[in-house]
Amino acid sequence: MLLFINQYSARIFQVLWRNFLLLHVFLPALKFFSLAVYSPCKIDLIEQCIIIRINSFIEIDMTDISKTKIDYDFAVIGAGISGAIAFYNLSKNGFSCIIIDKTDKSIPYLLCKLVCEHDFPFMPDIPKDNLDVFVRDHWTSIYASRNIEALVDGKEFNAPLGKLADEYQLIQWYLDKGKEHGGKIQCNQLVSEVKILKDNALLTLQKPDNSEVEVEIEKIRAKAVILATGASGIKLQQDLGFEIPTIMNSISATFKCDPVLIEQNIPADYIFRLHPQISLEGMLWLNRARDYFNIGYVSKESPKEMGIKFLRILQNYEPIKQYFKGIERTLETLTVDDFHYRKCTKYPIDSKVSDRVVVIGDSAGLLYPLYLEGVIGAAASAKIASEVLFELNNNKSSFNSQDLKKYEHILSARLLNSYFKMGKISDEMFFRGNEKPPFTIWDAYLNAINELQQLRKNIWTAYRCQDLGNYPEENDLWCGEQIYKHLPLSKKVSLMPFFLKFKFIK
Ligand SMILES: Cc1cc2nc3c(=O)[nH]c(=O)nc-3n(C[C@H](O)[C@H](O)[C@H](O)COP(=O)(O)OP(=O)(O)OC[C@H]3O[C@@H](n4cnc5c(N)ncnc54)[C@H](O)[C@@H]3O)c2cc1C
Repeated sequence: MLLFINQYSARIFQVLWRNFLLLHVFLPALKFFSLAVYSPCKIDLIEQCIIIRINSFIEIDMTDISKTKIDYDFAVIGAGISGAIAFYNLSKNGFSCIIIDKTDKSIPYLLCKLVCEHDFPFMPDIPKDNLDVFVRDHWTSIYASRNIEALVDGKEFNAPLGKLADEYQLIQWYLDKGKEHGGKIQCNQLVSEVKILKDNALLTLQKPDNSEVEVEIEKIRAKAVILATGASGIKLQQDLGFEIPTIMNSISATFKCDPVLIEQNIPADYIFRLHPQISLEGMLWLNRARDYFNIGYVSKESPKEMGIKFLRILQNYEPIKQYFKGIERTLETLTVDDFHYRKCTKYPIDSKVSDRVVVIGDSAGLLYPLYLEGVIGAAASAKIASEVLFELNNNKSSFNSQDLKKYEHILSARLLNSYFKMGKISDEMFFRGNEKPPFTIWDAYLNAINELQQLRKNIWTAYRCQDLGNYPEENDLWCGEQIYKHLPLSKKVSLMPFFLKFKFIK
């Protein structure tokens, strides 16, 4: 009996000794050798295999872990504009990167977006002359209300305001190029959970609820995660402890149209109208592409209410009737099922980082509040976040929230404390100014645009400013004074305190 115990403990000692050798001598040596040849994530994989081997040696069953684990430096959740740019920038710089989206990103759709000249410093490498992506130059914007229209035309100052981009093509460009650099794209997969562990973030992927495919769960491990889930990933964002920006509803319709008719019927590349009977919280907008245009509005009403109202607007609202002359799709046959319903966000959330997680784009509420201009926030946050991640990686950071705050600081300096600060003031002035009837201040603004070339030039400058961190705030403050001067006399008295507040805002 004693002999048996002795033999058994000798066997245990042998096993432990071998494991000790493997763990403390063999493994570091192999890791050192691999460093010269492989990327860090591959080293992790080797290490993982060895540890599993050791574990199986001492007879612990680890098979389920070894099958499902794949390591990436970074995982991007959400393949909208912000996620796609971050994915490209990280992959291009040699990091192993995966992007996951719950929808099928390979299905083309027609939606065109304003990309202002000031967006381009944040849109790495994309050729501005790619006509599949940038379908037309943006020269003209009309700002309108119930009774007034004001035109800003880049030709007056000899340069366009930006481009109109086909959103599908723009996203595809960044996804394709990211893939060419070794990035992995995984569509039709919902990230249902992200667990922040000591050494990595563990993502759970599964088929979205509406999928007919049987639920199959996959686990992915990454050093850090970029949350780019827009307005449709609220649950995950909340589960990770982040605040949610203000959510609004948007509705839009797309009309295919002969390019000649588009030029004839639609008076500007972008039309932005505030009308109290349409919405008190958002605009009726139109973006024109080459052979289609999109029209829509934003509100806090329910999608159902918006569908019925939008149908009435399209069929009856006199100022927009001319846009539809001669188009194939007759307005009489439209139904609420022909519209696209999407959520959008507004007002940046305070904290945009936590351990191993960075929030970018619409999920962080990064839209210029008045115009709901979101490409700038999506592109700027994606570029800045990816650059901070690769700097931290090079500095062997553990991607803790303290280190990641660098992203927040740069974003504030380059966007939020300057251009977006002025956007917040305009939003408050035009939407929340204590005026009756609504949009009186907006009407004064439109009259001032029509009258003053300098004001039109300031708007043109805002579209084109290449360094938004040094955005000329004095231009907007001067605009504010001109708006005040264009108010009806009765309003000048009641709104004086309101305007003084903005004048002395720091
Ligand atoms: C109709 C409309 C027109 C607009 N026009 C303009 C314009 O002309 N100019 C402008 O500057 N801005 C415009 N905006 C705003 C701008 O488009 C957005 O701010 C920008 O596209 C946001 O991009 P994003 O990548 O942050 O989010 P999104 O585009 O919303 O992308 C988020 C992605 O995350 C995916 N996702 C969410 N949750 C999960 C999950 N758990 N797992 C996996 N995937 C997930 C979604 O499927 C989605 O693809 C417009 C917005 C709308 C709605």
